[in-house]
Amino acid sequence: MIELVPLARQFQSILPEMLEAITETIESGKYVLGPNVKKLESEISAYLQAAHAIGVGNGTDALVLALDALGIGPGDEVITTPFTFFASAEAISRVGAVPVFADIDPQTYCIDPARIEEKITSATKAIIPVHLFGQSADMDEIMDIADRYDLKVIEDACQAFGAEYKGRRVGSIGHAACFSFFPTKNLGTVGDGGLIVTSDDELARRVRLLRQHGSEKKYHHTILGYNSRLDELHAAILRIALTKIDSWNKNRMILAARYREALKDLPDLTISPERKDRSHIYHLFCVESKQREKLLEQLKLRNIQTSVYYPCPLHLQEAYAHLHYSQGDFPVSERLSAQLFALPMGAFLYEEEQDQVISALRTTKGEGLS
Ligand SMILES: *Cc1c(COP(=O)(O)O)cnc(C)c1O
Repeated sequence: MIELVPLARQFQSILPEMLEAITETIESGKYVLGPNVKKLESEISAYLQAAHAIGVGNGTDALVLALDALGIGPGDEVITTPFTFFASAEAISRVGAVPVFADIDPQTYCIDPARIEEKITSATKAIIPVHLFGQSADMDEIMDIADRYDLKVIEDACQAFGAEYKGRRVGSIGHAACFSFFPTKNLGTVGDGGLIVTSDDELARRVRLLRQHGSEKKYHHTILGYNSRLDELHAAILRIALTKIDSWNKNRMILAARYREALKDLPDLTISPERKDRSHIYHLFCVESKQREKLLEQLKLRNIQTSVYYPCPLHLQEAYAHLHYSQGDFPVSERLSAQLFALPMGAFLYEEEQDQVISALRTTKGEGLS
């Protein structure tokens, strides 16, 4: 079986350091908001060139806390993409605001800046662009719109740790940014974790309050908060992974370039071109095909795992029936929901495995199979 994400190998590669860090953490007696979280926060803020990094429970909470800390709630609208993981919009709804969708660019698969402005109303407070699959959204255009309409921008960078946009790392461009350390993310741990990044001191202070029951001083609560903290054990593991992230991302890029070269002449397959002004760290390697179901079957017959991203755009989700969107509202997202799928990708995918994926795609159905 060739896995979609060969994850265990990634953690195997740092297992001795992980075990040492875990033992040390357990022996230290400090398990919540201790020295590892503090150190990870300062290491990540240095890496991303942002003033503050705040560890929280997971990427979804990172979005919820960022929105809450910005004072966004009932009566407010937040513009985001319908072509993303559900959490990007769910977080908006969780704080009582309304997600307003704008269709995506057919090449980056990220929110199309040209579709944002028409969605702005007097209730709009923020934009959440998602750096989908590991490549930045069009941040200059988005920040420009935000400036003109006095909106906040929260980058959903959950899939793009270390990706660059015009020489800057994503997460340092918007007013705030959110990361997830879910195991399959390119910087992940062996459980849940998340982080908010901002260079706004007051926003950072509010997020720190919110993650800890609105409390700065023990048992004194200035605002209503949450219990959403990054565990020391995960922070200790993430500090090790952080030292590897550039080389892991590099491996992903090398594998992506191999896929591109080997698959470029396949008539049934479209691989969206990379943008020259930004790096793609390939959280996922997705391709488009009108023959998707046939190709998925072909790969499955050869024991190759694939997955469809995303089979149902958010405006057509049952949970959002009350928003009254319908089929045809976002044609680019809807087309890609029917055509896009992910091939195996990961820092620890072997080239021999990748060659098998390539040959399975290059073989017409039935050929060479017994
Ligand atoms: C994974 C992900 C999230 C949520 O992160 P969790 O840590 O799983 O809560 C949010 N947005 C995007 C785009 C994601 O990929």
